[in-house]
This record gives sequence, structure tokens and C-alpha cells, in this order.
Amino acid sequence: MAHDWLNGIDDRYDVVVIGSGLAGLTGANCLAKCGRKVLLLEHHYQLGGLATWFTRKGGHIFDISLHGFPVGMIKSARKYWTQEIADSIVQLKGIRFVNPQFNLTTTFDRTDFTRLLIEHFQVSSATVEQFFTDLRAMNFYDHNPETTGEMLERYFPGRDDVKRFLMEPIAYANGSTLEDPAITYGIVFSNFMSKGVYTFRGGTDLLIRKMSEELQRNGVEIRKHVVVEKVVVEESAGAKRVAGVVANGRTIRCEAVLSNSNIKGTILKLVGEEHFTPEFAAQARAVRINTSSCQVYLGIRKGESIPQIGDLIFVSDSPRLSSEELVDFHTRSRTFSVYYPETRPGSERYTVVCSLNGRYDDWNRLSAEEYQREKARLIEESIVCLERFIPGMRAKIDWTEAATPRTIEHYTRHWMGTSFGTKFEGLKVSMELPNQLPGLHHAGSVGIIMSGWLGTINYGVIAANNIDKYLLARRRAAAAPEPILARS
Ligand SMILES: Cc1cc2nc3c(=O)[nH]c(=O)nc-3n(C[C@H](O)[C@H](O)[C@H](O)COP(=O)(O)OP(=O)(O)OC[C@H]3O[C@@H](n4cnc5c(N)ncnc54)[C@H](O)[C@@H]3O)c2cc1C
Repeated sequence: MAHDWLNGIDDRYDVVVIGSGLAGLTGANCLAKCGRKVLLLEHHYQLGGLATWFTRKGGHIFDISLHGFPVGMIKSARKYWTQEIADSIVQLKGIRFVNPQFNLTTTFDRTDFTRLLIEHFQVSSATVEQFFTDLRAMNFYDHNPETTGEMLERYFPGRDDVKRFLMEPIAYANGSTLEDPAITYGIVFSNFMSKGVYTFRGGTDLLIRKMSEELQRNGVEIRKHVVVEKVVVEESAGAKRVAGVVANGRTIRCEAVLSNSNIKGTILKLVGEEHFTPEFAAQARAVRINTSSCQVYLGIRKGESIPQIGDLIFVSDSPRLSSEELVDFHTRSRTFSVYYPETRPGSERYTVVCSLNGRYDDWNRLSAEEYQREKARLIEESIVCLERFIPGMRAKIDWTEAATPRTIEHYTRHWMGTSFGTKFEGLKVSMELPNQLPGLHHAGSVGIIMSGWLGTINYGVIAANNIDKYLLARRRAAAAPEPILARS
């Protein structure tokens, strides 16, 4: 008989959280700390969503998305998780760019970028200062129609090299392009510029274990291997609201749902567009899915070491920055994340993860044989590229493996295997959800801004606060005496 992964759960919860990405985990934790009864359901056998890792023969541990995040993670970890988690966040100082236009190393913060823009790129200090100040002041509510490309051209006309320096890392961080609204670039870039790039010492496995322990301390019921198939909607007195979920074939009642599943999947599949106004359903259908990622994992044999070549290396053979080239099936642009023993102190192990942006369709249309062949090509190209930095590197590697947008789709159920959620319009649709269907909330990668570790954690907090207010209002309404007229 199949194992019952829901064995022992209650029939009713205040909130069911669908998915254990960083937004789902954080939302669940905040709600539990507010005293809400929370059930967290994850379809994978591991928590974390894209904030994940895997182990392989030979003692290898590969981190998927631990390349770097802004300093704001320290505050968010302390406020919404624990001091212990916050204390393990440390800075990465060796960020490198190697491309036909420049070869630079930086700490990736405003001070060092200012220095490089003035000394290396010969931009006037007044322009640099103005650029950073204006960017910092950018606001989501300004409704500025300018694109990132237009904005960069305004400050640095005709300077392809400067635009590449400023934009390429952000394109890797959130899949944004020069055609996306400038705000999506401005917010994320400014977050990094405030103090550089940070990582979690101990690895993703330790972070997620600590988060899981904290969730349990706060009373969250966690179940893995559970697919939520449907959100249950009920109607009374002409008003619809969320009343539960169907998961692994079982109905679980709840007052609110926090979906960490992809926003389009949430609306069009889990709930069903018949429960929304036709205008809203059309808006949801029109939301564009963002692009995805490929990765190549290179495990260094036990006992071998590699020299310090930097933590994060943006390498490209493309003559200039092109948003199209970055996602091309044969892109010549990739980022190496080099994990030294300090990532997991005491481990004495090294791994290299190479990330490339990619399009789902390019990988989805391949036959099984082509798929294997193209993955082997990615691995080979990555090793050849890495050997430019570490000659003889190939001989040190005893594990190679590649992941594609199809891998992401398989493990996270994300619409078209997206690793970066949706384009800008997805944010409005996500935020509008509870107004359309009371009790239904979403948190996770949307709108480019709300993606990445920091963006999704913070979005989880926002959604949890909204749910808490909704539950409070419902309790108050239920406790209120009936109006005199209704009683007579
Ligand atoms: C290759 C790569 C590298 C990255 N590098 C970085 C980086 O260096 N720094 C950074 O800040 N960010 C990085 N990111 C982005 C970052 O990992 C994500 O933005 C963030 O982790 C997404 O969190 P989320 O809360 O949106 O949910 P996700 O991580 O997308 O998780 C959603 C979860 O919901 C579950 N789920 C979905 N549907 C259901 C269902 N019906 N029932 C049950 N469970 C369901 C999924 O299984 C999944 O666990 C990277 C991403 C990728 C792919």
C-alpha cells in the first residue's frame, strides 16, 4: 500500500501553505508566530524549492541558488527567522568579470563600483553619483514607463561596456532584460550595491534544516511528498471564498491559502479561472513567464583542491551585452560559482556550479537523445571555459551533471520551468488575488522584483501579514452581535 504522507494531520487549519520555497517557508513561519494553525505542503521530498541542494557519490554537495544575495538578507533572516541564521550570512568579496570588453575584479558594492566607473570606465564622478542616487530613490509606485535599456542609455549614452558592467549580473540574478521596466533593475541592483554580495556559510542544506527546525518549534505542521491538486472555493450569500485544498486526494479545510506555487498555475490550474472575473482571468493568462536557467555541476575529487580564482565569475565571449545572447541556446555567457571549503567549514571540499540563462522551449522540444547530447555539450563547454582559469582542471573533476529548465519544471512544477517567476505584470496579478477571491494569497517569484532569496522571503512576510489581517477580520465578524434588524 502507498505511504500516506498526510497521515495524522488535522481536518482543519487556519492556513494551508502550498509549497516550501523561501516565500512559502517564511510565510508559514510568520503566520505560526502570530499564533495561526498552519499546514505546509510540499510536493518534493525536500523543503526549500529552488533554494535547494543535492548530494552525489564521492561526497559531493551541490548548491543550486547559493551564488549570492544582498545584505538585506541579514535583517530579514534575523527578523523573520532566527539570529543564528542571520549570523551565518557572510560576504563574498571576489566577484569577477571576464569578457571581450573588460576584465575586472570587484567587491560589487557602491564604493567599488564608483571607483571602477570613474577610474576604469572614465565616467565623470558627477554622473556616477547622480546615477546611484537616482537609482536608490526609485519607487515601485512611481509608475515610470522607462525601460532599463533606456535608463542606462540616459546616463551612459553609447557606452555598451558600462551597460554590460551594470546589467549583466542582474540579468543572471533575476532574468531581467534591457527591455524590462527600469524599476525591476533599479531595486535589485541598488540592493546589491548597498553592501555587496552575501552567502550563507554552511550551505543551503544547513539553512533549510535550520528553517525547518524553527518552523517545527513554532508549531507548523510540515508534510513533504504532497501535491496540492486543487484549492477549494465555497460560495455563500453570493460571495466566494477559499475553504480548503485537495491534496494527495484528500480535502483539508482552511480559511486561507498561501500559494507559493507559480502565480499562473495558482490561478488557472489550482483555483480555476471560473472563480475570477473574466477581466482578471484574462490578465492572469496574459502574464508572461520569465526565462529559466541551466546549470552544470562539477565535483572536485576528494583530496584535490583548486586555487582561489574568485567566488563569482561572470564570463562571456559575446562581444557585447545582449539580452538575447544571454538566453540563447548556444550562449557564450555563463557564471561560475566556486565553492571553497569555507562554504561548509571543515568539509575540505570544492565544487563549481556554472549557471547559464536559458529558454524552456529550446530544451523542451528536444528528443530524449538530443537532450542528453545537449546536456553533454553544456558540460563540455563549461569545463573548457573553466580551464582558462584553472589549467588542468578537468583532471580534478570526478562528477559532472547538468540541469535545464526541464529539471526545474520537474522539481518545482513551475510553469514552463521558469526560474525567475514572471515578468513585471505578474506582481499586480499576484497582489490582487485576495481582492478577487477572499482567503487566496500568493507569495513567490513574480514581477522580477519579488524574486531571488531576499525578494521572496520579504514577499512571504507581506503575504503572511495580509493573511493574518484577513483571519482577524473574519474572527471579529464572527464574534460581532447580529444587527438588531436581522434578529427581529
Ligand atoms: C539556477 C538558479 C540560480 C539562482 N541563484 C540565485 C542566487 O544566487 N541568489 C538569489 O537570491 N536567488 C537565486 N535564484 C532565485 C531563487 O532561488 C528563487 O527566486 C527563490 O528561491 C524562489 O523562491 P519562491 O518562494 O518563489 O519559491 P520556489 O523556490 O520556486 O518554490 C516553490 C515551491 O512550491 C512547490 N510547489 C509548487 N506547486 C506545488 C503544489 N501544487 N503542491 C505542493 N507543492 C508545490 C515546489 O515544489 C517548490 O518547492 C536562483 C534560481 C535558480 C533557478
